[in-house]
Amino acid sequence: MPVNKKSRVVFYGLWPELHNYTRTLLRAYSCALHSEKISIDNVDPHTDILAVFIESPVTKEIMGKMSRLKLISAMSTGYDHIDLKAAKKGNISVANVPTYGENTVAEHTFALILGLTRKLFESVKRVKEGKYDFDGLRGMDLKDKTLGIIGTGHIGSHVIRMAKGFDMQVVAYDVKPNRQLSKTMGFAYVSLNELLKKSDIVSLHTPLFKETYHLINKKNIKLMKPGSLLINTARGGLVEPEALLQALNEKRLAGAGLDVLEDENLLQNFEEVMNCGDNACKLKTSLINNLIIDHPNTIVTPHNAFNSTEALQRIIDVTVSNIKDFIAGRLKNKVV
Ligand code: NAD
Repeated sequence: MPVNKKSRVVFYGLWPELHNYTRTLLRAYSCALHSEKISIDNVDPHTDILAVFIESPVTKEIMGKMSRLKLISAMSTGYDHIDLKAAKKGNISVANVPTYGENTVAEHTFALILGLTRKLFESVKRVKEGKYDFDGLRGMDLKDKTLGIIGTGHIGSHVIRMAKGFDMQVVAYDVKPNRQLSKTMGFAYVSLNELLKKSDIVSLHTPLFKETYHLINKKNIKLMKPGSLLINTARGGLVEPEALLQALNEKRLAGAGLDVLEDENLLQNFEEVMNCGDNACKLKTSLINNLIIDHPNTIVTPHNAFNSTEALQRIIDVTVSNIKDFIAGRLKNKVV
């Protein structure tokens, strides 16, 4: 049956403070709004259009429970939580929100960079503990340092703009170099290996694909400049956790600022770790993640880079417009 205004639109993982706003935008439609993430146990079988945030993995099994499903609208830029192969096979369209947060995530990237270079976390902690001295808290200037940007899309290019404001040198690597951007922003594209060798700070801004899984790994992390910093606000799977922990322990890397970790969902509840069954690999990643979090030279935030008031409103606006367009017979921001 084709979708129409009576089609059932179901949101999972919708932030409670945005329920009223979303309901108002969709008042002419039949919708159900849930704050909890989707699971095989709570899936609404009458869903025609599904909207989910990244914490809701939409697996083949979950899709199989919704026989009327026609559209999955990701309330995010990344869509690696959706089984695209299963969606394609089931003739289910997928849309995303391509540009809600380029400045938002770029700002968080700089929060992590400055947090590390100005030893912000230790400084604040020390003062709160009643010790008002700066011994051992010497930082590092950003001016004239080289920032290596991997992925010069929406977010990466915003980070470059901000870096220029700090008088930093920028080098970049992308499978699809944007020559116009490099000319106007004044930076050079180099190979991945060259970027790792040259950069004082490396920041990741590519999607997680099969080709980008463990883009930074045991082999190439050794190329990074001694004393450099690694920043990841993209996806945890881009960095091999063991390689990062080793580089930090050996003090080859001076620090890491991370908003994402591989298999970070396992950190959210202990039950998921226990349900890993025989999956020793996931248990190992979970243990390494905890060691990375506890490492004195890391700052880890809980996948929070997108999370500003303005960005969340933009996410809802684009998601609702994706849904309304789809009902009107158009697929905007198409993923598949
Ligand atoms: P984008 O699509 O605009 O840019 C991605 C860039 O990566 C493109 O220029 C592309 O050519 C490049 N790329 C793709 N494959 C590559 C490869 N193998 N090697 C090198 N470069 C490659 O995406 P964006 O809006 O800049 O977002 C980047 C990523 O940031 C998203 O995919 C998402 O996973 C992540 N993100 C995280 C948060 C958060 O809250 N932490 C929020 C939004 C987005």
